[in-house]
Amino acid sequence: MAAKDTFKAYVLRQENKKTTQGIEDLTVDDLPKNDVLVAVDYSSLNYKDGMAIAGVGKIVREFPMVPGIDLAGTVLESSSPLYHAGDKVVLTGWSVGERYWGGYTQKACVKSQWLVPLPEGMDTKKTMMIGTAGFTAMLCVMTLEEAGITPDKGPVLVTGAAGGVGSVACAILGKLGYNITALTAPGQESTHDYLRSLGVKEIIGGPEWGEMPRPLETQKWTGAVDTVGSKVLARVLAEMDYLGCVANCGLAGGADLPTTVMPFILRGVSLRGVDSVMCPIERRKLAWKRLAVDLPDKALESINPKALAFSDLPAAAADLMAGKVRGRLLVDVNK
Ligand code: NDP
Repeated sequence: MAAKDTFKAYVLRQENKKTTQGIEDLTVDDLPKNDVLVAVDYSSLNYKDGMAIAGVGKIVREFPMVPGIDLAGTVLESSSPLYHAGDKVVLTGWSVGERYWGGYTQKACVKSQWLVPLPEGMDTKKTMMIGTAGFTAMLCVMTLEEAGITPDKGPVLVTGAAGGVGSVACAILGKLGYNITALTAPGQESTHDYLRSLGVKEIIGGPEWGEMPRPLETQKWTGAVDTVGSKVLARVLAEMDYLGCVANCGLAGGADLPTTVMPFILRGVSLRGVDSVMCPIERRKLAWKRLAVDLPDKALESINPKALAFSDLPAAAADLMAGKVRGRLLVDVNK
């Protein structure tokens, strides 16, 4: 590609502490200097991207910034022996879209160590329908498996179930044969139908989930994927079976954890943290291979009803922050 050829990117800029954002024409010369140039097909809108675009919190640490914490596309040029022109690749995390330029662009110049080759059975669209949220859901399921939580052990709970991580976690656990209960905001019948279509058996969300639990409650779950944190995670821990395991990746309800040691010392419950950003490369490869096999295409289509264009990003980010989004949001950078 000639350096003067332009392509579209969504750029955040800051001047005098005021942030502006919009679609810009860039050239390859404007990109950071790294060893792999990628023609991006798709990115996605994750919780962190919603925060970056809506200006909530301090997600973006360098300006100007191309947001988008993930991307999938085709290698155009590479000076790394690891990748060659034509290779299909996916990138999630590594502070891309926060500290380094991210996926809301038609071309990205990235570090080869950040990339994962697409496994067999995956294309760039499917990869970003899954995105960081779905990749994290797979890491949560792998974490439960590593703790010995198999489908025969008993019911598992997914919190924030209608969100991006929660939806994909339900779909994977459903495919693997787990008996899934979903915790979701009450009162929306269409969300219940959606969750059942992903393989959920029971749906809960009573007023007790807004209250502090007792140190130990009735034992209900052998495993749990928690995306919410705070009082919700405290109740999940108090309701775990003996030797149960909770995989926590999120803080949609708050970063605090008002719990006691009782579930740990009297029931042997374990709480395992899940991080997608700095996840080692071999574990990433394994998770993407698992996603190619363990996530049904039909579920993925209902999780992603439509693809967004760059011009849709501000409104979609506001909806995500307001809790109005169900499932995942794919971003088609060429739309
Ligand atoms: P979404 O916004 O798509 O979903 C979050 C869900 O959480 C909502 O759909 C809602 O579920 C529930 N929720 C939101 N606010 C509250 C609240 N105040 N109390 C209780 N439940 C609430 O986000 P994602 O699924 O993409 O991400 C979920 C969390 O995981 C975020 O905190 C995100 O930062 C984190 N995350 C962490 C990663 C890691 O590497 N550790 C990677 C990716 C995400 P419902 O609609 O069912 O009620």
